[in-house]
This record gives sequence, C-alpha cells and structure tokens, in this order.
Amino acid sequence: MDNKEKTLHVLGLSGGKDSAALAMYMRDNYPDLDIQYYFTDTGKELPEVIDFVNKLAGYVGKIVDPYEEVYTSNREKKDFDYHLRKHKNYLPSPQARWCTIQMKLVPFEKWINLKMEKEGYTKVISYVGIRADEPSREGFLTNTINSEYLTIKMPFREDGLNREDVFDILKKADCFADDEEVVSYRQLFVNQKTGEPKDPTDDEIEELMVSLVKQRNEDNNNRSNVSTELLRKIVEAKDSGKPGYYGWRSRSGCTFCFYQQKIEWLRLKEIYPEAFEEAKNYEKTVEEARADGTFYWLGKGTPLSSLESPERKAQIEQHHLKKFERLKKKLDRRRPNLLQIKVKVIDTDVMDDIYDEVEGGGACVTCYK
Ligand code: SF4
Repeated sequence: MDNKEKTLHVLGLSGGKDSAALAMYMRDNYPDLDIQYYFTDTGKELPEVIDFVNKLAGYVGKIVDPYEEVYTSNREKKDFDYHLRKHKNYLPSPQARWCTIQMKLVPFEKWINLKMEKEGYTKVISYVGIRADEPSREGFLTNTINSEYLTIKMPFREDGLNREDVFDILKKADCFADDEEVVSYRQLFVNQKTGEPKDPTDDEIEELMVSLVKQRNEDNNNRSNVSTELLRKIVEAKDSGKPGYYGWRSRSGCTFCFYQQKIEWLRLKEIYPEAFEEAKNYEKTVEEARADGTFYWLGKGTPLSSLESPERKAQIEQHHLKKFERLKKKLDRRRPNLLQIKVKVIDTDVMDDIYDEVEGGGACVTCYK
C-alpha cells in the first residue's frame, strides 16, 4: 500500500432516520474510524430537521455543513432563489432536480475537493444508510465526483441491518427524551402516586394533546392549526426516537419538496402554514415570470391552491385513508415477510408503499435517507 495514502471518511446526514441511525451505529460500532459527519442545510429545511440534526451532534459529535465550508463569504448568492433564477424560473421537479445537484451535491463535491487539496486526502470513503432489506441502487450519491478516489460503503447492508434495526437504534438513542412534549406524554405511562407503569386511557391521551396543542399555538402566536390527532402522531414519533416530522411526513428534505404526497402537503399547511404559503408564493413568482406556462410543485396544472378547498381536502384525506387501510390488510396477510413490520403500522412508515412507489419516491438518498 502507498504510504502517502490518506483516507477521508464521510457520512452525510439528510435529517432522515436511516442516515441518523447509521451515524449512531458507526459511532458505537466503529469508534476507531475518524468519520466526518456532514449535513447540507439548503436553507429550506423543516425546523424539525434542524432540531434533529442538532440533537444528533450531541450523540456523534461535530457535524459540518459543506455549504458553509465552501460558500463562506457568499452563501446568500447561492441559495434556492439564486438557483431558481439561474434555472429560468423553472421550479425543480423529478425530471429536473437541480435543487439536489446545486444545493447538495455541488457543495459536497467542492467541500471534498477542498479537503483533498488542503489536507492531503487521497481517498474518500462515503458511508450511506442503504439497508439490507432495500434493493441495490447505483449512482445515487455523486454528481461528478471522480470514482477513482471515492468509494461508497453501506455498513447496514454489509452487516445485515434492516428497517426494524434502524428503528431499534433510534429508540435506544432516545434523542427526544428531554423534549417537553415527550416528557409529558411519558408521564401518562406512569402512575404518579405509586410510580408503577400503567397504560393511559384514550381520554387521558386526548386531554394531554389538547393542552399540548394549546401550548403550541401560544408558542406560535396562533399561526399553526395542528389537530390533536396529528400532534399525537408527532409526539409518538419523538417518543420512539424519530424526529417529529415522521408523525406526518414520510421523509426529510426541503419543506416544499416536490416528492411529497398531497396528504403531506395538506399536513404541511396544518403544521407550518407559513411554509405552505411560501411554497405557494414560489408558484406565483414562476407563474408571473413564465408567460409560456409553468410547472407547479405538483406538476403541470396543479397549483397548491387547488388542494385547499374543504371538499378537495376531504377527498384527499379519504383517498389516503382508503389506500392506507388497503395496504394494512395486505401487510397483515403477508407479514412478517414484507417490510419486517412487527408493531403498529403508521402511514408515514409506509407512504411509498401506499402510493406504489419505490422507497424515497425516486428522491436521491442525499435528501431522504
Ligand atoms: S429535498 Fe426535495 S426539494 Fe430539497 S433538494 Fe431534495 S429533492 Fe430537492
């Protein structure tokens, strides 16, 4: 072996569960590897994603942002708005996914090149959270990074870890143990007089959710309008060590990611009405800028405003519920072979299956893993 060889180990966090669990797994099982963890903040992330990444830093150590590393002095010139203008006001889409390339892959590539140049690395190993229960994927990570020096490793696949194992890792890490909503929720499972464990009634849970919704509304100047049903899913997600957004959305990534299902857009509106309005404003901007017609986040002819009427909303919710119920019946028949799901199935865990899409809905692992 060449003595001058110097290897840089990197692990990209998307804010999603698989990369987070992989980071924890690597820290716990391969402590001798000096891994550089990174998260590329597009500036359009959900607050829950940022919160989760901050909590992860408490577990795995420093997490760098390649965007900050390479655009230190002119970051604002390279943000989403800048790239939207550069792309002639075409919103990104599955067919033209310039957002991932320009806002994640290019900064990553520049950062790697900078490190190689300045710190003398000759090889890069990138650890990716593809699991043993997933189909093989090629060409999912890099843009033009030279494969002569970049190697992709998939420790979960090599070590035989599947989706259930990922959930176990997150549960054990319990990143949200000190979250106020989780603390109150867990108190319901303990008899406050005797200290013995107990199962709360549905009424007790509902009562707590009502007070947590009230609290959220106060904290948020009454701007959000989350239902107790949705908040319960968010709190249960955090209780199982996952970021809260897994209670309402199936993957990490930008607030306005076009890979969202309609039901997820509706929930975004419920929880973050301002982010939903921002997404609508982008549609208006590109409409005005493109006299020859435009694509919206949901594709041609479907602006987000078309989801908002009470009738359409009810229709989308019923359709989603029906498809989810149908999938649950199918899972019941096939379990445990399919998806290895042994416990309560929630829709966000199986969103891609509900809509017959491959996991990630076609999104790059850089965004959703
Ligand atoms: S999360 Fe979605 S919108 Fe954001 S960079 Fe990835 S594909 Fe693009």
